Amino acid sequence: MPDTTPKIQTQGADSISAAGQAAGPASMSASQKAMESGLETIGRDYKEKATLEKAKELGLSYVNLSKTIINPDLLRILEPETAARAKIMPFFRIGMRLRVAVIDPQNPETVKVINDLKKQKFLININLCSEEALNSALKLYESEQYKVKKKIEAKYEESKVKAYELELTEIAGIKEKIESVSAEEGLELINIGAMKTGASDIHYEPEEKEVRVRFRIDGVLHNVLTLDKKTFYNISNQLKYISKMKLNVTNIPQDGRFSFILNERKIDVRVSAIPTQFGESFVCRLLDPARSLLNFQDIGFEGDYLAKMERLKTMSHGMILCTGPTGSGKTTMLYTILDQLNSPENKIITLEDPVEYNLHGIVQSPIDEKRNFTFAEGLRAILRQDPDVVMIGEIRDLDTAHTASQAALTGHVVLSTLHTNSAIETISRLLNMGLPAFMIAPSLHTIIAQRLVRRICDDCKVLKSIPTSMLADIRANVEAIKKIKPGTQIEIPDKLPFPAGCDKCSHTGYKGRIAVSEIITLDYEIRDMILKGQSSNNILLAARRKGLISMREDGILKVLKGLTTIEEVYRVTSLGI
Ligand SMILES: [Zn+2]
Repeated sequence: MPDTTPKIQTQGADSISAAGQAAGPASMSASQKAMESGLETIGRDYKEKATLEKAKELGLSYVNLSKTIINPDLLRILEPETAARAKIMPFFRIGMRLRVAVIDPQNPETVKVINDLKKQKFLININLCSEEALNSALKLYESEQYKVKKKIEAKYEESKVKAYELELTEIAGIKEKIESVSAEEGLELINIGAMKTGASDIHYEPEEKEVRVRFRIDGVLHNVLTLDKKTFYNISNQLKYISKMKLNVTNIPQDGRFSFILNERKIDVRVSAIPTQFGESFVCRLLDPARSLLNFQDIGFEGDYLAKMERLKTMSHGMILCTGPTGSGKTTMLYTILDQLNSPENKIITLEDPVEYNLHGIVQSPIDEKRNFTFAEGLRAILRQDPDVVMIGEIRDLDTAHTASQAALTGHVVLSTLHTNSAIETISRLLNMGLPAFMIAPSLHTIIAQRLVRRICDDCKVLKSIPTSMLADIRANVEAIKKIKPGTQIEIPDKLPFPAGCDKCSHTGYKGRIAVSEIITLDYEIRDMILKGQSSNNILLAARRKGLISMREDGILKVLKGLTTIEEVYRVTSLGI
């Protein structure tokens, strides 16, 4: 990680489905019909027989490509020019197992393409086919199905991307341009703009007279432009079309997905539409695989907390819970821990809603509430698959909590998230759900509560003296930390960096985010207190005696290191413990 090769999906619209196979391209069946008549057939049969003999000689499988229906999705694996030059055609796929037809396995171009596919993690099965059959299969690239697919997975041009290597303020200036180009191009401009500014979400919010477009960058929403209703109508229809939503439905919420390729990277986009009084409102979540995983230091862990996180790698059983509100980076945190636990000896299975990032070597299953494949149901099923590590997207009910804690007690490492404000609240939340103390105490291993604060942009930060009002706050927090950790040296510098704004940070003054956190590792004393039904407050005091630094205090330490600002820390954390 990070792996920048465009990942080939094994689910959703990209997979081979029985329906897709049966539908097949229309032009193929037409050409098949033509082939199966007249003298041509005899000649062709002969060539197919000769190819079969040759395959036997070479010890390869043979495929009669002219009688094989090829799913149009498979055509997207290779560019038409590549397939024609290397005389190769993918014709069947299950997961990453790919069967390809070639006319000469020794041909250097063919060998090169096969090696490229292997690098993309495909398991290749080579089949010999006749040249005639291959040539007619290559004509599929000209079929309507392929063209539609090409359109859906757009590849954004580098020249256009360059035009957007501008600051955020200038994106507002492209309003006119967006209103003058086709809806397809307009959407493309907005998507590129979002990628270039490092946005995680694009919000389209219809108002009475116009539509506001906002980008979420490092967790904060920024107004970027407004569109007139007519332009928005066209762009939103294009968005619904590529996300495979029903165009004629506007009065109920819909979900969809699409992807585009930017600089060789495939970006998946999850789209949600909800009706509002002024029309449909859309939120597009950009899932950029290259942005997801960092190591613990990059996320912002240091000192004792870093040591605690590093120790998680060696644990053999127990439950790790990551808590915080939506947008606090819980899921990314779980992925980072999973990535650290990911080794050939460990079998890791995840249950997610939905799968946000693809991780190599990990079995990831999306839950499907409609089909009763819930977190609890899924967890029981995956425990029968003998995993070492299990990740459950979220604990929402007693059933899931109960199964998860049982799994942790029977030798599994279980990772999950919970919506609570602080680490200590997690214990009472589990008790309130109905999970008995005698199950929580032995199964729970570590609780990580976290928030994300924006990191000051290194390119434009300016050193300033600390205002008096702020200094008092900082001093109070430092005193509290010193009480928890006697002997700690904490310097309060005269000046601290403040955000300014430059091209590198889209004039926000911030670039990237770091976590501020509090971590409780359960030891004998705390487990005993849980068993004895002690109050949260008493358990908290015990944890503080053992060195628990609150999120806000952790944030203040990061302010003093010049990583973020006090406003950021106050924005995301409530008053200290
Ligand atoms: Zn900057």
